[in-house]
Parts: sequence; structure tokens; C-alpha cells
Amino acid sequence: MEHLQLEQYKWDAENCCGCKGCVWVDPIYASGLNYAVRCPSLFRYKFDAYSALGRLKLALGLLEGSLNITPTAVDIIYRCNLCGACDVGCKRNLDLDPLMVLETLRIRAVDQGAGPLPSHAEVAKKILHHHNRYGRDKGEKRAWLLEGSRVSKKADILYFVGCNSSYKNTQIARDTLAILDHLGISYTLLEQESCCGHPLYYAGMASAALDQAKQNLAKVEDVGARIVLTSCAECYKTWKVDYPKLLNKKTQEMGYRVMHTVELLAEMLSKGNLIFPNPVNMRVTYHDPCNLGRMSEDWIPWNGTRSTWGITKPPKHYRRGTQGIYRQPRDLLLALPGIELMELPRARENALCCGAGGGVMEAYPDFALFTARHRLQEAADMDVEAIVSACPYCLDSFRSASPTLNRPIKVYDIVHLLAVSLTGKELDS
Ligand code: SF4
Ligand code: SF4
Repeated sequence: MEHLQLEQYKWDAENCCGCKGCVWVDPIYASGLNYAVRCPSLFRYKFDAYSALGRLKLALGLLEGSLNITPTAVDIIYRCNLCGACDVGCKRNLDLDPLMVLETLRIRAVDQGAGPLPSHAEVAKKILHHHNRYGRDKGEKRAWLLEGSRVSKKADILYFVGCNSSYKNTQIARDTLAILDHLGISYTLLEQESCCGHPLYYAGMASAALDQAKQNLAKVEDVGARIVLTSCAECYKTWKVDYPKLLNKKTQEMGYRVMHTVELLAEMLSKGNLIFPNPVNMRVTYHDPCNLGRMSEDWIPWNGTRSTWGITKPPKHYRRGTQGIYRQPRDLLLALPGIELMELPRARENALCCGAGGGVMEAYPDFALFTARHRLQEAADMDVEAIVSACPYCLDSFRSASPTLNRPIKVYDIVHLLAVSLTGKELDS
């Protein structure tokens, strides 16, 4: 895959000016020193090497032959959430692609036999042998499915459940189907659903991720669905951004639309076709998952050339993170009777990662916990009862960190609150 080689992003590495926009939240958005850092890795490890700035210098050293992929370099490359916050910060002032440097650094590490990390290789083995990231028996895959769910054989909407909601946070899958059934929305499920391949891509295993993409794309074609619906931010970004990226195509050329459940419901809400009848009395804040927010913009490949001052021919489209799925979850939460919604200081494209992203949860659990605790403290400072997200991996990260706080806060997935209000079912404690 020539288009996903580090060389393609040499210009970006060369032109990093060391301004540290990738580290700090812009002063006009920062609410104070406590929550002014955007890079979890720099915040945890303090040295510039653990920021986008340091990793771009590392990339340049590898490309120019002045550095090698040593064990320390591998550690620096993978001790990063691939959360994209640096990319947003950098692009406020410059037209650089730091996130693509970070992603292709991992691909380079794997190509040179220095990656993936052992914990990532273990997950990859489970995906290749068991088709899910947990290595669970495929017979258990539909254990979450309640009798009476109205699954069609064929439908325009394919609900892609994902590994986490199939095996771990199965409540999310049940709540999603409860909502669809309650609203009379027709949907189908894949008979043999496989992992979306996100863990393969973030580990730098681009060829394995491409194989996984091709298998999943063939399945969607088989069922003839027009919409791939998911309640998982990682699956969402994989289908919408990484599949076209791996195939060097535009998102718009993929032949299907990817929707998060919040998008589908927010569309109905805006047309006046959705009313939430039951109250959910709670003061909450919403955490923007990286993969549903700043990382979720359409992929548009660029295969051009640069002239003086880096001018691109043809013009390059930059994904700046401002067009993510931000409005929809907020519109839905505000439509729930009884909900009081507070904004976090770092919100939308400036949101801090939950700590789980980029394979950090598997490889560096102490770092994931550190970041999740910091993010929860930010929520606790808003004096909320609960933090709400739209991704099962945020749920995992926050739920493992919350009991370690002096004043734990509740953690919910948004589809649960929506299902509670729509169907009148009881709120999980
Ligand atoms: S990566 Fe971008 S924001 Fe960070 S120091 Fe370099 S130029 Fe500045
Ligand atoms: S992707 Fe996230 S963790 Fe990695 S360097 Fe950028 S801001 Fe830091």
C-alpha cells in the first residue's frame, strides 16, 4: 500500500515548526490551566518526545536515516492514543497532517518487524482465528439477542454490532435493537459478523486491516444494505474513514452510508418524527468520543504533488475535525425530559480522549487509567451525576476509572438513556 507509507507524509514531518499547537488547547477555548492540555501522551509522560511534535521529529529521523527503530522509538510510537487531538490543534494554524504521520509510523514499525506490540499481536491473533478481538467462541456472538427482536432477513439498514457490544457491553446492542423495534425501523444483522478490523489498523497492520475490510465489505454487498448502522464510535470511524483510506478511495465512493445510532435518531428528531416521553432526571455531561467526533470526517484521498511553499496540485482537502458528529448527541440529550446537560471545558474537536484509544488500553493500561481519571475529574468539576458517551470503549475506560475517584460519577452510553426514555424501561444503576 504505497499510499500509506511514511514517505507520503515526509513534507508534514519536515515542516513541523515546533509551535506546540498539538499540545495545548487554544487559549480562546481553554478554561484554565487544569484542562488546557490536548495531548494525553504529553500530559502523562511530560517530554516532547511523547507529543506529535516529538513523533514528527522521530519520523523525520527515520526517513533521513539519522535514527533507527530502536525499542525506545517503538515505545514512543505506540504510547499514543491516536486520538487526533494534535491534528486538530496543528491544523488551526498550518496545513499539516500529523495524525497520518503517527499512523504511518506504526505501519513502518510493522513493516520493519519492530511492531506490533505483543499485546496488539495477541488481539490480532484472536481476530484472525476467532473473528473477534476477545477470542470468544463465535457461538456466543448472538447471546445478547433477546427473543422477539424483529430482525429482518433483508433491510436497508444493517446494524453492525461490533465486538465490544456483542461480547462485553451487550446492553448497548440490546438497547439499540429496543429503540429500532420500538420505532418500527426495519434492520438486519450479519449472520457471521467479524471484527471491523480497527485493532489491526491502529496496531500498524495495514495489510491485515485491508483483508478484514474486504471481507466485511463483501458481506454488506451480499445483504444489499445501504446503511451500516453502529452504536460504536470505533466501528463507525473504521467503516467511514479507514476502509476508504485503506482502499485509497473517497468515503462517498464506498456505496453505503455509515450512521451512528445518534445520527439516525437525530435525523428523525429534526423532522418531528421522534418524541421522548419518559423523563430521565439527571444532570449529565457529554464526552465526545474521538472516533465519532474529530476523526469521523469523510476520507478524501490526495495523490498529488507539491510545488514552492508546499502548494498542493491538485488542492488537498484537509480534515480539520470541526465537522464531526457533535450536534446530534447533544440534540438528543436535550430532547430527553429531565436531562440537564453541562458542557465540558474540552468539548467537540477539543475533547480529551477517554484513554482507551490507539491500543493504549491493551498495551499500557496504567496510561489509559491515568487519562480516564483526568477526564472524569474534568466532568466531576462540572458537578454532574453522570458522564455520557457514545462508544463502548469510552464506557470501559471510564467505568474502570470512576471507582478510583474520591467522588465516583456514573457512566452511561447514550443509547441506554435514549432507550430508557423511549421505552420506559428502567435505568441501569
Ligand atoms: S505538529 Fe504542528 S502543532 Fe505540533 S509543533 Fe509541529 S507544527 Fe506545531
Ligand atoms: S494522537 Fe493524541 S496522544 Fe497521540 S500525539 Fe496526538 S494528541 Fe497526543
